[in-house]
Amino acid sequence: MTVARTGGCLCGAVRYRLAAPPQGYGACHCGMCRKFSGGIELGIQIMPGGIAWEADETLHTYRSSEWAERGFCSVCGSSLFWRLTMPGPMQGMMSVAAGSLDSLDGLDLVSEVFIDHKPAGHAFAGERPRMTEAQVLEMAGVTPPGGAA
Ligand SMILES: [Zn+2]
Ligand SMILES: [Zn+2]
Repeated sequence: MTVARTGGCLCGAVRYRLAAPPQGYGACHCGMCRKFSGGIELGIQIMPGGIAWEADETLHTYRSSEWAERGFCSVCGSSLFWRLTMPGPMQGMMSVAAGSLDSLDGLDLVSEVFIDHKPAGHAFAGERPRMTEAQVLEMAGVTPPGGAA
């Protein structure tokens, strides 16, 4: 079953459509994602050009690190994405908040990153690839000046 994946913020002022059906979503347990999302960040990886904004007048961004920014609705405050701003082949790559999709039907939690930052008080059931901060940074080939994403 192929469903057009659409989503938006809580108040509906920001709306988007994904160009391709996502494979699933991943969890990031880093402290910045925890603050931004207010809970556990669940994101869908979107390549540059993979999202069309149908309404974005209230979409604002906050530069959260030297190489990334985060998007949110300035009316309702919904967390919407993390986006890589660092120049390079992956510039524009995003993690769109899974919870902003209109439906998560048919999508599974497929990965967890920064697992070494996960608070002890919660854990997702089931088995999937889990990576530490060091493993994530090694895979991305970056040496951060400090902090995570
Ligand atoms: Zn909104
Ligand atoms: Zn994170």
